[in-house]
Amino acid sequence: MSAKPQRLRQTGKRQKILVAGAGMSGLVAALELEHVGHDVTIIEARDRVGGRVHTQRGSDGTPIAEAGAGRIPRSHHWTLDYIGRMGLALHPLYPPKLTNLAFINGQRCSLDSGAELAQAVALPENERALGYPGIVKTYLLDNVDRLLAAGVIDTPAWPPEQLADLDRLSAPDYLAERGLSQAAIKLLTLGAFPTAISPLMLSRVLAHYDRDGLSIIEDGNDSLPKAIAARLRGDILLGTPVLAVSQFSDRVEVTVVREGRTTTMTADALICTIPYSVLPTVTFEPLLSPARRQILAEMRYVKVAKVAFRMRSRFWEADHLSGFAQLDTGAEIWSPQWPSNGHRGVLQLYQQGDRVTEMDALSEPDRMRWAIEKIEEVFPGAERHVEECVSYSWQLDPWARGAYGIPYPGDLFKWKGRLAGHEGRIHFAGEHTSEYPAWIEGAVRSGHSAASEVNETGS
Ligand SMILES: Cc1cc2nc3c(=O)[nH]c(=O)nc-3n(C[C@H](O)[C@H](O)[C@H](O)COP(=O)(O)OP(=O)(O)OC[C@H]3O[C@@H](n4cnc5c(N)ncnc54)[C@H](O)[C@@H]3O)c2cc1C
Repeated sequence: MSAKPQRLRQTGKRQKILVAGAGMSGLVAALELEHVGHDVTIIEARDRVGGRVHTQRGSDGTPIAEAGAGRIPRSHHWTLDYIGRMGLALHPLYPPKLTNLAFINGQRCSLDSGAELAQAVALPENERALGYPGIVKTYLLDNVDRLLAAGVIDTPAWPPEQLADLDRLSAPDYLAERGLSQAAIKLLTLGAFPTAISPLMLSRVLAHYDRDGLSIIEDGNDSLPKAIAARLRGDILLGTPVLAVSQFSDRVEVTVVREGRTTTMTADALICTIPYSVLPTVTFEPLLSPARRQILAEMRYVKVAKVAFRMRSRFWEADHLSGFAQLDTGAEIWSPQWPSNGHRGVLQLYQQGDRVTEMDALSEPDRMRWAIEKIEEVFPGAERHVEECVSYSWQLDPWARGAYGIPYPGDLFKWKGRLAGHEGRIHFAGEHTSEYPAWIEGAVRSGHSAASEVNETGS
């Protein structure tokens, strides 16, 4: 796999193509197909482009927070390539030289100090001797080294059979099986950590994760989908959900609701980027393959809710704090610094896991109260500085039904080679079909790959 997206080959055959979904995968697919002369129309259920790249803006139009994709790692070359092509500027996510916090057992300590972290929990003697860096090296980085040595990332050999032992259990269960104490496991799984993923998936993420190399797009991450959408010649039909898809030997028909009326659109091919959490609401004629229907039934989406407060000042900086914290409750606090913030700041609660269900049951004002109380525990006095608040819950969104699809232990091998691909004239894309699930990088790569498939197969 190339380190950068390549332009598609001109085939000389102009096709009429529908793309379901104006998220990053659909937009990239449309951009690449138009570039080689195809006639593309995007059909989008929401009244905006970007899907799960969604910047929430304040009353003055400037970003308060990212409801969806919040960070772009410097190793995500395909995402960075499209950002560069659109002429967008990046800004570091973490302010330099300020302390990031951990909040464990009700106590604040520095996330950047292995000694403080090790003292925050009751580690047994042998783990105390190893220290936090030693625990990370022995129990996490060892598998990252094995994975990198196998040289399989971004190759058809992913997931690697020789590392199948790392995909049997969830990461916490695996660490416990290796004898790590629950106290140490708590340290290694702080924050919005998807506890269900296997050590193999975790190692893959860690292999290209570098906290100092994380960025945001200067005027909000939604600048990227908006910029791509602005480059497209074909229509983007907003507020137009897909209800049904029928395919025939010579065409595909897509039934949509447009301006309150049901209509059918015809094309040579459909690129379907609808998340697998939502796809079961679409009727297919003939039915999708048994293998794909099984994946649709099995794929689980992580629950995420975020509540962000714009603050009149970054009062935490007086204590040399960055505003970022990882909690032991499946939550993180983020404090993205857009240039437009000026002297103002943001504290955003990013909650994952079971507590999200509790948040979702609350009214909007109660959810905000719930969130500010959690933030107050880590940054006392926060409430006094609140100027504006926005919140988002991905599982309550009918066009997402969850934040992202992640493989549970065993899924990687069970689904190998069956997530993307095409069934006749229907080509599947989206982060959930990619080897980078839960990242823009996965969406972008999958959109490009589906575009290439349509271009090459001629249907
Ligand atoms: C909380 C959260 C945090 C994240 N953090 C990061 C991060 O830090 N960094 C990162 O790189 N990525 C992150 N991601 C992942 C990233 O946002 C996604 O991987 C990516 O945006 C998915 O793009 P997509 O095109 O595959 O799907 P989507 O963006 O979901 O696009 C699919 C589109 O299909 C539309 N649709 C759905 N149903 C229908 C229908 N029936 N008819 C027509 N249209 C329909 C939807 O409205 C949507 O616009 C995060 C995501 C979430 C939710």
